[in-house]
Amino acid sequence: MIVGVLALQGDVREHIKSLSDCGVDAITVKSLSDLERIDALVIPGGESTTISKLARSFGLFDAIRQRIKAGMPTYGSCAGLILISEEVLGAIEGQESFGGLDVTTRRNAFGRQVDSFEMDIEFKGITDPKFRAVFIRAPWIERCGEGVEVLARVEGRVVAVRSNSLLATSFHPELTGDNRIHRYFVDVICREAMKVGA
Ligand code: GLN
Repeated sequence: MIVGVLALQGDVREHIKSLSDCGVDAITVKSLSDLERIDALVIPGGESTTISKLARSFGLFDAIRQRIKAGMPTYGSCAGLILISEEVLGAIEGQESFGGLDVTTRRNAFGRQVDSFEMDIEFKGITDPKFRAVFIRAPWIERCGEGVEVLARVEGRVVAVRSNSLLATSFHPELTGDNRIHRYFVDVICREAMKVGA
C-alpha cells in the first residue's frame, strides 16, 4: 500500500515520517502522476486557503476531489479537515474544499495563532485512548451528518471524526511523535477500505 501526503504546504515531512514508522510506503504528492500511484492520501495542516489555491494551480484539485468521492481513504489534519469538509464556516471569499466528509467545520474556531494549545484528549479507536493533541489555529466540527462517528471532543466540541474511509482531526498528531492516529488510519481505515475494494 502506498500512502501519499499532499505536499503543497504544511507539515509534509512529519506526516511522511509518521506513516513510514507505521510500515507503509509514504510518498509526497505534487502532481497527477503522484496521485495515480497512491492508495490513500493524507492532507496536512497548514493554511486551507493556500493549499486549495495551490491544488488548483498544480492541476490537482478536481482529481483529488474525484478520488475522495470514489472512496480513496483520506486523512485530513487541521487545514486538511477543512479541505475535506462538505461545508466550511468562516471561509474566505471563494475558498474551495475537496469535500467528501459530511460535516460543517468552523475555521479558526479555537481562536488565532496566539490561542494555539496542547492538551490530553480521549480518542476513541486507539488502545489507551489518552492522546496528547496539539491545536494550532484549529477548526472544530459543528455539524456531523449521518454515518459520521465522533472520535474525540474538547469541551464538548467535536475535534475528530471518521466516516467510512475518511478520517479527520482538528489537531496535529504528526508533531508529537505518537503515531497511534496514523496507525489507526493505516491499520483500520485503509485496510478496511482495501478489503471492501478487493
Ligand atoms: N487555520 C488554518 C486554516 O484555516 C488551519 C490551521 C492549521 O492547519 N494548523 O487553514
